[in-house]
Amino acid sequence: YRAKTRGGGRHAFFDVELRKRVQRHMDLEQDLRHAVGRGQLWVAYQPVADLRTDRTVAVEGLLRWRHPVHGPISPAEFIPVAEETNLINSIGAHMLRSATHQLAVERERHHIDLMLNANLSPRQLDDPGLPGLVESALADSGLPARALCLEITEEAIMQDPAAAARVLETLRELGVSLAIDDFGTGYSSLAQIRRLPLDTLKIDRSFITDLSESNELRVIVTSIVTMAHAIGLDVVAEGVETAHQLAQLRTIGCDHVQGYYLSRPVPLDELLSSPLRLPAG
Ligand code: C2E
Ligand code: CA
Ligand code: CA
Ligand code: CA
Repeated sequence: YRAKTRGGGRHAFFDVELRKRVQRHMDLEQDLRHAVGRGQLWVAYQPVADLRTDRTVAVEGLLRWRHPVHGPISPAEFIPVAEETNLINSIGAHMLRSATHQLAVERERHHIDLMLNANLSPRQLDDPGLPGLVESALADSGLPARALCLEITEEAIMQDPAAAARVLETLRELGVSLAIDDFGTGYSSLAQIRRLPLDTLKIDRSFITDLSESNELRVIVTSIVTMAHAIGLDVVAEGVETAHQLAQLRTIGCDHVQGYYLSRPVPLDELLSSPLRLPAG
């Protein structure tokens, strides 16, 4: 309605843009149904380093879609489509099975003790089949439960904290560890988080991006780390892009770092072909 009142030219522009977006959304929805079967989904891995040893201790698996017409499509775009269309459970299962298998194979081959971090969407958390899926992915791949960490966003947990707590307890009983992802973007309190069976807190990238320019952010990140440690959680800082941010996170006492400064998400064999440690400097 508002676009119309602005005159014909603008109206036509919005119309074309909107129609393009709706068309793309419909295309993706349609094509995503076949993406798993046609082998278009693959997992990229990004290292997580321990600041005490400067070594890579984990890799986060991040889904990628190689679309035959539209090219690479970001999970930020297709995961929401998968959630709307109920494809998330089959895509999530595929992701977990492939990633646990790949990690188990490479751990054996290279004699390394790398953990796998895998993301769960809010819809997967609601799926009663989730614990069974995790259990069978571990059994079939041979990956030990202690080598798997499941990441759940703060937002997903806060949609229904009591229900989330029950699912997390069940997952924990399988022997896997649990991380709260994108911390700081939702509205949870440490008092709520303290009651959940969590091992790790991942500070959202938005707090790290301007860390070097903002005293305020330094104070906020310091207090998140202090509070997380007080309730027994390890802290990962996401989105570390510079040596300066890394040095500040060391000073603050953050446990782990992840970000482009270490590596972009890449195929697992590429990641394992370079040294599993922080770049010098
Ligand atoms: P996330 O779990 O917060 O993953 C981190 C995202 O930040 C990744 O984006 C990663 O490529 C990006 N990133 C890492 N380091 C840096 C950095 O230094 N700078 C910048 N600018 N970005 C960095 P990606 O791979 O596009 O994934 C986006 C989101 O899609 C993920 O956010 C996650 O919520 C979701 N996602 C990815 N894979 C899966 C999956 O298998 N299942 C589910 N449910 N969600 C997934
Ligand atoms: Ca994550
Ligand atoms: Ca995150
Ligand atoms: Ca995120």
